[in-house]
Amino acid sequence: AKMREEQIKKTKTVCTYCGVGCSFTMWTKGRKILKVQPEVESPANGISTCIKGKFGWGFVNSEERLKYPLIRKNGKFVQASWDEAIDFAAKGLKKVGEKYGNESLMFIASSKGTNEESYLLQKMARQIFHNNNVDNSSRFCQAPATTGLWRTVGYGGDAGSIQDIYKSELVMIVGANTAESHPVLATRVKRAHKLNHQKLIVSDLRKNEMAERADIYLHPSPGTDIVLLSALSKYIIDQGWHDREFIEKRVNGFDEYYKSLEPFTLENASSITGIPEKQIIETAEMIHSVKSMCILWAMGITQHSAGSDESTAISNLLVLTGNYGRPGTGAYPLRGHNNVQGASDFGAMPTYLPGYQPIKDKEVIKKFEKAWHTELPTKPGIDNVSCIENIDNDKIKAMYVVGQEIASTGPDSNMIRDSLEKLDFLIVEDVFFSETAKYADVVLPATVSLEKEGTFTNTERRIQRIYQVMEPYEQTKPDWEIIQGIAKSLGYDWNYKHPSEIMDEAASLSPMFHGVSYERLEGFKSLQWPMKENGEGSEYLYEDRFNFPDGKARLYPLSYRPPLTVSEEYPLHLNNGRMLEHFHEGNETFKTEGIKEKVPDTFLEISEKLAAEYKIQTGDFVRVTSKWGSIKARALITERVSGNELYMPMNAASDDATVNLLTSYTRDPDSDTPAYKELPVKIEKLKKN
Ligand code: SF4
Repeated sequence: AKMREEQIKKTKTVCTYCGVGCSFTMWTKGRKILKVQPEVESPANGISTCIKGKFGWGFVNSEERLKYPLIRKNGKFVQASWDEAIDFAAKGLKKVGEKYGNESLMFIASSKGTNEESYLLQKMARQIFHNNNVDNSSRFCQAPATTGLWRTVGYGGDAGSIQDIYKSELVMIVGANTAESHPVLATRVKRAHKLNHQKLIVSDLRKNEMAERADIYLHPSPGTDIVLLSALSKYIIDQGWHDREFIEKRVNGFDEYYKSLEPFTLENASSITGIPEKQIIETAEMIHSVKSMCILWAMGITQHSAGSDESTAISNLLVLTGNYGRPGTGAYPLRGHNNVQGASDFGAMPTYLPGYQPIKDKEVIKKFEKAWHTELPTKPGIDNVSCIENIDNDKIKAMYVVGQEIASTGPDSNMIRDSLEKLDFLIVEDVFFSETAKYADVVLPATVSLEKEGTFTNTERRIQRIYQVMEPYEQTKPDWEIIQGIAKSLGYDWNYKHPSEIMDEAASLSPMFHGVSYERLEGFKSLQWPMKENGEGSEYLYEDRFNFPDGKARLYPLSYRPPLTVSEEYPLHLNNGRMLEHFHEGNETFKTEGIKEKVPDTFLEISEKLAAEYKIQTGDFVRVTSKWGSIKARALITERVSGNELYMPMNAASDDATVNLLTSYTRDPDSDTPAYKELPVKIEKLKKN
């Protein structure tokens, strides 16, 4: 028994399946994962995890993992040594840069990679290639939320902690399927709702689990949330229920904002959203009846052509009612990837250096130029959505994509796949041979989180350490080593011996992270940015001041732009999102036995009304067609969707069934985030299954 004990290794790590950032001790024997054990001191989750965190690790030992580097020669991928592949990747970027200019290069950082890895990729783009064309997948999800918060309160992050949500008297969830997308966080809300008499309002197209539990469930017509939120604001002000004292002391722009609310009468709101006036009043009354409210939202809000405005409307409502700066209050855009927050925080963004320091700020540029011994670009870069049209315009000629399955997760995947084909040079660094890898010139095999050291930042701005649980699989390498290798091959010897040195550099250059070090993140210790002058992190934001020069919040006037909507030809609305068992496009969880068996593929949720109309039964194959593509999926008749609305998880077992073959390139002009949720389709029952 003692021998057996000795072979068991216990290592602290952080889950990579959502932004909650659950941490736990992983028990392993070699590459075998014996147990996932959350600890009392796990800051985000305590002793809980969900199915993905507990059982979702089978992919780590999947035979399908990339084992060695691949280089395309005469149209075919052949095995290469690391030296050869790194050299090939470096030369490829250099050659395209020399031929078309460095601005023809695009860098995409992984929102699943570590903070240190995002930092290095943006450093490569800026220091070596003098361009700001660097981004991460927050562009596909929460960039509009960040825009909304920057407009109103100043920090692009959750206002408080997951713990704080528990303390709130009222939780409002708008456009988020929390029970499935952020399960452990949802458990807290469920418990508080049950025990603490916390009230719960849910607004969503789909009657998801949280909606079932809610005290008030609102079902606005697709893409009309801004009307509902603004009508609530107007009604609250008209009743004199806004927090006058708070507004007087801490808020700018009230009058102009109130004026902008003029069109949002109950009558108008009700006719646009389809929600009865009485229910809007009931909701406003509930908001008025509590001392603290927080609002949680996700892609049901952000992935619209007015995603930034809708996010702004949420923050406006919170400012107006004085719901910022205290426990149990504030805005909670719930992050999807484990490190989508950190990838942005550490500078993988086209207009910000690490720590959200603007490239337009001369002092900031000077500081980084001194540290990196080079001149830095101040022209805003291209983001990872508009880079697609820039491939078509011949402006982007080469891309370095780290761990992003852009060929299946980008909007209008047919178009993206055609565009990738046109690139002169593509580096794909990933764990599996992804759909995107099919278009690559060189494929670099990366380790998974369990095989490396680093840090992740979860949805509540909490920086947490991950430790190496097991040796890298076959010949794989951590992304930070690969990026550093390419830099070296390009003549830049960064010479980081450990990710801690990368963090030290990032922390020294970004006030937000001053004082963050691996020493302070040891084990289950964590720090929430921004670091305060006293050296402590910030559990919640805006206690004394909002993040603007005068310290005041800003109410931001808005108007309503109708979404892309159904037509005679495409009469049905297809909503899409996550499911509990699978993660994103599914290239990890569909390779994990146990999970795959439980939910083998995607499905199309259809209302009883439509099922009757189209004579469809559960299990029938249905063809779903939009203006941009067509896929087939099995139908599932359910009460979760109603009327002419359909729902489909974005996770699919094969690349030819991804919902993004249907979605369009329509975008939110303020963040460039695709309007994935504005999707008119038609359906047809297939005769043969
Ligand atoms: Fe992982 Fe999120 Fe589940 Fe926690 S809630 S175990 S972070 S997927």
